[in-house]
Amino acid sequence: MESARLVLKPGRQRRLLAGHPWVYSGEVAEIQGQPEPGDLVAVVDAAGRWVGQGFYSPKSQICVRLLSRHPEPIDEEFFRRRIITALRRRSLFYPDERSVRLIFSEGDFLPGLIVDRYEDYLVCQFLTVGVDRRRDLWVKLLVEELSPRGILGRQDAPVREREGLPRGIELLYGSVPDRIKIRENGLPFWVDLRGGQKTGYFLDQKENRRQLRTLITPGMRVLDAFSHTGSFALHSLAYGAGEVVAVDISAEAVALARENERLLRDEGLVPASGSVRWETANAFDFLRELVRKDEVFDLCILDPPAFTKGRETLEGAWRGYKEINLRAIKLLRPGGFLVTCSCSYHMDFGLFLQVVQEAASDTRRMLQVVEYRSQAKDHPYLLSVPETAYLKCLIAQVF
Ligand code: SAH
Repeated sequence: MESARLVLKPGRQRRLLAGHPWVYSGEVAEIQGQPEPGDLVAVVDAAGRWVGQGFYSPKSQICVRLLSRHPEPIDEEFFRRRIITALRRRSLFYPDERSVRLIFSEGDFLPGLIVDRYEDYLVCQFLTVGVDRRRDLWVKLLVEELSPRGILGRQDAPVREREGLPRGIELLYGSVPDRIKIRENGLPFWVDLRGGQKTGYFLDQKENRRQLRTLITPGMRVLDAFSHTGSFALHSLAYGAGEVVAVDISAEAVALARENERLLRDEGLVPASGSVRWETANAFDFLRELVRKDEVFDLCILDPPAFTKGRETLEGAWRGYKEINLRAIKLLRPGGFLVTCSCSYHMDFGLFLQVVQEAASDTRRMLQVVEYRSQAKDHPYLLSVPETAYLKCLIAQVF
């Protein structure tokens, strides 16, 4: 059980009682006891009433992320139950996928812990000091519940600095090859576990990629902007696209995308007539160039990185989203499909629709919505924690 107590300022318990887990340091009136970084602490309201308990992060602005709202023991069995609940959700929704996000931090009631499964291997991110300190516990529980061949810690996420944690990559268990072949929607992809972005692959888009199947008719010309290792491009190709043009600024990502194309071809998953042109370039310049050349596409996919990580930079992000959407819309034939994404939490669903509409209106085109989608079900979001819902994916037909 916890030893120290954090007493909140008056009224500051409300958001927590409504289901949000974060306690900001400015909301704390008093710390009773002397908790060490990562210790379990109790949080009480100004009148001393119990609110919840969680790990203490003295260096971060978010000084506690609640793990439980009950005065229950937070021990190995508590975490085992949480992990098993998360695993059950994956086997329910993805009975056949062996590469999924197993634990999504707050979304799985385990703030600060991210675990991705890539076939027989696990890649973890420990994002708070409390989670980082208990690394042996996570390894023990994950080995007992999943028997992986190896576990890698991708402790290079910049957010670790806010917790005062060092950054690096570490082998936590067994052995882990540099890259492994995963399958997503039945298609093979290489994942670079140590050198790739984040944990190596963007699993959150798997259902949106699969959805391309409903849009593609044989021979279509497809543009995949911000293609990373080519997942959208290669799903398009496997689903019958005639020609795909893919662009990403990272030479490493494009090199792996080429290898992924080879994997698909070797397995006979691509019609012989389908081709991809891989480009290493800044997508902003590249799109402008395509428009200048009057190129025409049947389907444009935009999946940029988060253009903003805070409210302060929202305006610049707005311009970025508007520009790429405007260019993609210009490139589409009447009736062509736009698949446009944003993973910036601060660009919320409403704002994102607004920016895309602004782009459409500037080009005198109209967007007829096909579907409004979000992140895959292995990235669950809580209605009480808006920050857990970050991915927007709008599919529309452009007229
Ligand atoms: N669509 C990808 C994920 C995209 S992540 C997938 O399905 O896996 C965002 C990608 O944008 C990264 O690969 C990053 O290298 C790339 N990127 C960032 N800035 C860019 C820019 N200005 N132009 C082109 N690519 C960029």
